[in-house]
Amino acid sequence: MKAEVIAVGTEILTGQIVNTNAQFLSEKFAQIGVDVFYHTAVGDNEERLLAALEIARDRSDLIVLCGGLGPTEDDLTKQTLARFLGRDLVFDEAALARLDSFFASRPASSRTPNNERQAQIVVGSTPLPNQTGLAVGGLLEQNGVTYVVLPGPPSELKPMVTEELIPLLVSQNQKQQLYSRVLRFFGIGESQLVTVLGDLINQQTDPTIAPYAKTGEVTLRLSTKASSKVEADAKLDKLEEKILTHGELSQLMYGYGDDNSLAAVVFELLLSQGATLTAAESLTAGLFQATLADFSGASQVFPGGFVTYSLEQKSQMLGIDPEKLAAAGVVSDFTACAMAEQARKLTSSDYGVSLTGVAGPDRLEDQPVGTVFIGLSSHKETKAYRFMIGGRSRQDVRQIACMHAFNLIRQTLLNGGNLL
Ligand code: ATP
Repeated sequence: MKAEVIAVGTEILTGQIVNTNAQFLSEKFAQIGVDVFYHTAVGDNEERLLAALEIARDRSDLIVLCGGLGPTEDDLTKQTLARFLGRDLVFDEAALARLDSFFASRPASSRTPNNERQAQIVVGSTPLPNQTGLAVGGLLEQNGVTYVVLPGPPSELKPMVTEELIPLLVSQNQKQQLYSRVLRFFGIGESQLVTVLGDLINQQTDPTIAPYAKTGEVTLRLSTKASSKVEADAKLDKLEEKILTHGELSQLMYGYGDDNSLAAVVFELLLSQGATLTAAESLTAGLFQATLADFSGASQVFPGGFVTYSLEQKSQMLGIDPEKLAAAGVVSDFTACAMAEQARKLTSSDYGVSLTGVAGPDRLEDQPVGTVFIGLSSHKETKAYRFMIGGRSRQDVRQIACMHAFNLIRQTLLNGGNLL
């Protein structure tokens, strides 16, 4: 937690008093592990205090304002904070009762309307009772930042800090847990994602956004501290919504969670739609099918499939016309379509997928390394899709090719079984 102390009072700036409150607060915060990164002093001036709050909000999680809670017109800390946060001031009943008992034994004329100001708090604050004075303090949270107001006189501030504020911060901190949500994207690189989200990443405070690149995909971890899952979810929902309004991200995000994958999403979709899927693989040589069979219950969605590496086996195992195969070549639209369609028909599956291409390191049929054709066949139609998976190792080309295949099936299943 990054804390900032803002001492309010022109006397501090003119050198009439020493800002011992900041020193005291820093000492107390250090004892509970809160880092104080800034001491700011500002005069009794609304505009300058607003400006100081603006800066503090962007760099601190805990902003402690001290001074300016008194009854006079130049005491404007709570009023300014309320304006800054777009909130009203309300009376704290306990503080009003304290004013009543204080003035009960004094002449009625000594109580002025201004005194009432001392019993006000910003709406939504937890009041911090003042044991040695009349001005009530307060603590509230808005957009992940905690604001605290404390009276200026050290004789009032010190007991309020020790007896009210510190125990409250400690118990809040104990109650707060770290919650995170992982968003998974396929079809965008890490640097591109970071560029698209530049504004959000630069402004991030709470929740934070951490991008992470894996082979073929990128994840974003959104993290926040909150005292309940409901509170955390509200914050994370808001940020996720903002993220997905950027570029094509709503289409490129395929799921949530650390342990999720495109294959897992496809497996669940197939299960929920009661559909079956088969594959005929050339460059991936079974990797796609092995990935699908990793899930228990795979037999419900995967009846079996084919690994057809050579041209002969493509023809023999899948029953594709050898002359047409030879004419089109292994890495071609025709071969991808024929493999997917034949695999589907031979296994009576709802969907057939095929993968053929150049894993490298050498070119094949004069096609560059990374050229991949993926065929997709349904009861309605069959299509081939060409991808370039450039600048990758043989291993990565094969893995990313499988991911493209899973992604195409995912999009098809989400599209009512219609190919894209
Ligand atoms: P009051 O009800 O007395 O007006 P307040 O909360 O409005 O209290 P200020 O008017 O800002 O506080 O300051 C009151 C007195 O408290 C100052 O004259 C000074 O003696 C002391 N004080 C205020 N701020 C600090 C500070 N940062 N460090 C040390 N003493 C301070």
